[in-house]
Amino acid sequence: MSIPFCLPLIDDDVIAEVNDCLTNTGWLTTGPKVRELETEIGKRSGTSVLCVNSWTSGAMLMLRWFGIGPGDEVVVPAYTYSATALCALNIGAKVAMVDVGADFNMDAEKLRAVLTPRTKAVIPVDIGGWPCDYDALKAVLESEDIKTMFQPANARQEQLGRPLLLADAAHSLGATYKNRPSGALADATVFSLHSVKNVTTGEGGAVCLALPHPFDNLAEYQFLKSFALNGQTKSAFEKNQPGAWRYDIIDQGLKVNMPDICAAIGLAQIRKYESELLPDRRRIFEQYNAAFSQKDWAVLPPYGNDVCSSSCHLYMLRIAHATEAQRDAMIQKIAEAGVGVNVHYIPMAMLTLFKNLGYRMEDYPQTYSLYANEITLPVYNGLTVEQVDAVAQAVIASAP
Ligand SMILES: *Cc1c(COP(=O)(O)O)cnc(C)c1O
Repeated sequence: MSIPFCLPLIDDDVIAEVNDCLTNTGWLTTGPKVRELETEIGKRSGTSVLCVNSWTSGAMLMLRWFGIGPGDEVVVPAYTYSATALCALNIGAKVAMVDVGADFNMDAEKLRAVLTPRTKAVIPVDIGGWPCDYDALKAVLESEDIKTMFQPANARQEQLGRPLLLADAAHSLGATYKNRPSGALADATVFSLHSVKNVTTGEGGAVCLALPHPFDNLAEYQFLKSFALNGQTKSAFEKNQPGAWRYDIIDQGLKVNMPDICAAIGLAQIRKYESELLPDRRRIFEQYNAAFSQKDWAVLPPYGNDVCSSSCHLYMLRIAHATEAQRDAMIQKIAEAGVGVNVHYIPMAMLTLFKNLGYRMEDYPQTYSLYANEITLPVYNGLTVEQVDAVAQAVIASAP
């Protein structure tokens, strides 16, 4: 028996939707399928949505939109995938890392301590699909001392009057916080539609705009649509209408638009996200919870309470008191049983790039202690009850 860690959902609905793109619309790059996917995601987040070709490019787009660049600082949690930091480094900004809380997510008080007059954005991450405490994070950014310290350098920064709260919701499509959906919880939110995520377009991302008054989110969507397409006022689809050949380049944009052929995959998936795909993930989470809840060595991942419900992206099990070496030995045994597991995440401060930039693991003790005994178990559509049981048995057999 062999159970891979992750598999994308490619079923008859996905094949039919991609086939429709190839044989009926005949349109491959940004066009009607992308627009439809934006509408479907927007129905769920209650916001304007712009689809792009990755989470990373969507985050870079929003940081550039806010006029962030060299000399500016962006705050990210120490516990995340490196893309959360790379989007800021790649536009020339500096990255300040902040340690997380026991729920894996950015801690509001630790955030307050790293804010400086140069801080222009904060990117909290809903790790594993568990939403951050957005009210607490927002309260820090909107406190009088932070607003007074903020030094706006352009009209958009002037209008917001504080650092941008940009949510990394790469994991949290379908999660809720205080009965509000992920996508509507920060000034702007970026979902990832990468192959390993809950809904995929192969590679892709979606930017949700929930900017506060007096921003006009629809107008900003229109601007970002061209900003994501070289700053061009018309897409190839729009230019393709007879007589519509003339266009303008209104800003120095990126080229990060999503192709229709990719959107078709995600469109087939998101239409049944609430009715089938998310309940299927919950079923897997609950089966793992039942298998481990009686084990005194098992620390279960956050799943649901009065405040939040998870999108069940990653089942991040922790082995109480296990050292990094003991955890690694467990993974070895689990692999020998034919089960693919993973660790989310190797903290950035342990990776070469970030070590060379001067980040030190000792500065993020909670991040290290969460990482050292964490094992992520398979969660994906199509994983059967028997397979989940086999994973749980392999984990239990490997436990100290
Ligand atoms: C996957 C992921 C990203 C990057 O997503 P891409 O679409 O591959 O750019 C960013 N942040 C987190 C937490 C992720 O897991």
